[in-house]
Amino acid sequence: MEIKNYSYLELTDWLAENRVDAYRAGQIFRWIYTRQADSFEQMTDISKTVRAKLNGFFCNERLAKVRSDYSRDGACKYLFRLADGHHIESVLIPDKNHFTLCISSQVGCAQNCRFCFTARGGLIRNLTVAEILSQIRDIARDLNGNQRLTNIVFMGMGEPLANYRNLIKALHIITDRDVGLNFSHRRVTVSTAGLVPRLLDLGNQTRVSLAISLNAADNQTRNWLMPINRVYPLEQLLEACRQYPLEHRQKITFEYVLIKGVNDSQQDAQRLAKLLRPIKSKINLIPFNAHPGCPFSCPPESAVLQFQQILRNYRYTTTIRKSKGADIAAACGQLSAAVNRNNHQS
Ligand code: SAH
Repeated sequence: MEIKNYSYLELTDWLAENRVDAYRAGQIFRWIYTRQADSFEQMTDISKTVRAKLNGFFCNERLAKVRSDYSRDGACKYLFRLADGHHIESVLIPDKNHFTLCISSQVGCAQNCRFCFTARGGLIRNLTVAEILSQIRDIARDLNGNQRLTNIVFMGMGEPLANYRNLIKALHIITDRDVGLNFSHRRVTVSTAGLVPRLLDLGNQTRVSLAISLNAADNQTRNWLMPINRVYPLEQLLEACRQYPLEHRQKITFEYVLIKGVNDSQQDAQRLAKLLRPIKSKINLIPFNAHPGCPFSCPPESAVLQFQQILRNYRYTTTIRKSKGADIAAACGQLSAAVNRNNHQS
């Protein structure tokens, strides 16, 4: 059994069943998540008999790194092979004085958004808790002392709220200050296409930041771009956002992929501004990133800036996401782990 699939409580229970003191759970967690231990042998403050028990039941693996590609702008895309031969990607993005890691939550995705490359192959499977955590643990190990990984975004492959149980377990370890990976809640962002029931659960069970992939301000356009909207239309999605518990000065990020001739008109910007009025929100515009075989294109810069200006006139904090890693197909919506598709064909 992979030990990183176990929550702290589950490990405590296992220890009790195996007649080991409960406080060992903390030591074991720290060895794995803080000290990056690979083997139970390394855990020298734990007795040999306990180490042998752990070794007999658990393993503690890393993901197989197939390749890492550096972009000209400093982003790095990692391709990992999972134990069953499927592949996932993660992207490490440098900022001024810290790094953000964009991680995957599923192999493929079932949401079928029309503009997204990951959608092409459909859903293959959910990632395990260990596979979610390993993306962070393995990449963090490669950083040198002055490179600080402070932010995690679930914006890689997959829909995190469709893998809810594993997401929650992983989030608890990611944000555990004491024995886990010690990320601040606010610096961990779950991005969703809008699975409304799960969104409310997330708000009740965690304090992480929320991003909604909105991408359209009317149901007709959103239905066409994002099939999930036919199940949970804008009214329901925005009502759930309105109820989402936020801390003082915290806001929900609304992501909006700008696609030429589809959702980029001045009218769209005005509709968006009015739609978000009841919600404490900020807006992140993402100029569409092209990928092979997709008929969409990115609006000219002037249209993007005009769209931003309209939202700013309505007093929204509105940023334009600078796409990093486009030259290595690591930008938003370009992740594909092409190898998965090749596997299917052969
Ligand atoms: N399923 C989750 C997380 C993965 S998608 C979600 O929907 O939020 C992460 C972000 O990339 C989403 O905001 C999505 O709208 C955006 N995106 C997908 N394809 C894109 C593309 N080709 N160009 C720009 N952004 C894209």
